[in-house]
Amino acid sequence: MRRRRLLTHAPAALALGGAAALGLAPRRAAARTAGVPYEQTRARNRAMFEGMFELDVPLLPYEWIVVHHTAAEYATLEGIDRYHRNHFGDPLGAEYHFVINNGKKRPQEKPLGLVEQARWRYQEWAAHLFHPERAPASCAICLIGNFEQRALPEEMLDALVELTRVLMARFEIPAARVTTHRGVDKRLTQCPGKLFPREEFLARLAAPAVVDDAEPHA
Ligand SMILES: [Zn+2]
Repeated sequence: MRRRRLLTHAPAALALGGAAALGLAPRRAAARTAGVPYEQTRARNRAMFEGMFELDVPLLPYEWIVVHHTAAEYATLEGIDRYHRNHFGDPLGAEYHFVINNGKKRPQEKPLGLVEQARWRYQEWAAHLFHPERAPASCAICLIGNFEQRALPEEMLDALVELTRVLMARFEIPAARVTTHRGVDKRLTQCPGKLFPREEFLARLAAPAVVDDAEPHA
């Protein structure tokens, strides 16, 4: 049922011109959850986006954006770091360039919708997520949670759309090169889960950019 609502939201948002309609959804959803209001988290994300290209290491030439999920509801970047270090023998830890939190573990520190830089800080390719030749030069974004079993919260979708737009603009990545792990590996994986709203995600990427609340536009 939740999925159905999400899917019907996309055309409505497009018809209304994007910004107003897209801005409403996170606010409405945030009211339902205790803890850090999503407006605060979104402002924190946007501040991070502003500085994320200023690193001490050169940026990689990303050509694809690939969305994953952890399949574990109670995960953190630190836990993923440990797991990938042990499981893949990768000293850099998490193979994902970014993670987007679901607010379940350490919610005050890592609230719902918070984007964190992971492998991005090192500007190294992910080598173990899938056969790299299928999506070479890909930037991996991981949604924390299991979207095979539950719908993606609006806040996480909003954060994913904003992050993806920033990356698309910087690296001139067309929407045709924004995909999911399943889109790359087909039947080998369900990642990021059957409830990931792929169509709505792609529709939002095609919609006009969301206007920043803090800056009135002409
Ligand atoms: Zn995956």
